[in-house]
Amino acid sequence: MKSVLRLEKVTKKFEGLVAVNELSIDMKARTIHALIGPNGSGKSTTINMITGTFPNTSGKIYHGEIDITNRPAHEIAHTGISRTFQNLKLYTSMTVKENLMVGFNEMLKQSFFSFLFDVKRAREEERLVNEKADEMLSFLGMYHLRDENVKNLSYGRQKMTELGRALMLQPKLLFLDEPAAGLNPSERVEFVDILGKVFESGVDLFLIEHNMDVIMNISHIITVINFGSKIAEGTPREIQNNQEVIKAYLGNRYAASAKG
Ligand code: ADP
Ligand code: MG
Repeated sequence: MKSVLRLEKVTKKFEGLVAVNELSIDMKARTIHALIGPNGSGKSTTINMITGTFPNTSGKIYHGEIDITNRPAHEIAHTGISRTFQNLKLYTSMTVKENLMVGFNEMLKQSFFSFLFDVKRAREEERLVNEKADEMLSFLGMYHLRDENVKNLSYGRQKMTELGRALMLQPKLLFLDEPAAGLNPSERVEFVDILGKVFESGVDLFLIEHNMDVIMNISHIITVINFGSKIAEGTPREIQNNQEVIKAYLGNRYAASAKG
């Protein structure tokens, strides 16, 4: 199977601290790949380097055949990569629909300066973005909330809005930093269901998540890191039974249930 994302000995140092240590990952196309590990083990830092939030200290990162190491975030986005954040980054005093449209417009501005000076094309673009936002809202089951201010939504709906904004860029590869954190059980079920649909629509998913039910249910391959270094990689079943992972992160609960 073809690689969709390749990290080759990627390291990130913050001053003296090695947050990510020579991490190599080979994510295959058409997979849901999870990254798990204790708090502070370097998971968000990994996504931040891949998506261009900040540069890595050493190592190489490829999206398919494209070398995206240390490229600016908007250029990386243009290779077909999008993301959501561990802490929501929404415009809370704008409507749901405006939030979806803004994400798309911001990317356009950063990439096609000419649009700013081409009024006719800009209007056409606006119409398309408008249509696309409506489609996305229907897909998320949020069309009825399109004109609602984001600050009036439940946390679950806000997270869903952020997912929609990331999907507006029509990524081939989507990064999710703790998508189910803070969701109640029914919101979680709904979110996982939508993620399944996103994957089926052709988007490969790379996610960080602490909720083990979510992880074990939807991931195909799991990479485990501890103190910035990879300690294990495999299928959910393999990971549940890996002694080092149980010791460093999972504890005994999942090991026991995996035997059944
Ligand atoms: P995780 O997402 O696995 O909980 P992070 O990747 O956020 O962990 O953090 C890994 C380590 O890097 C932590 O010790 C954290 O304090 C540190 N760190 C993360 N981002 C920064 C930053 N921008 N500047 C300095 N240190 C950071
Ligand atoms: Mg994190």
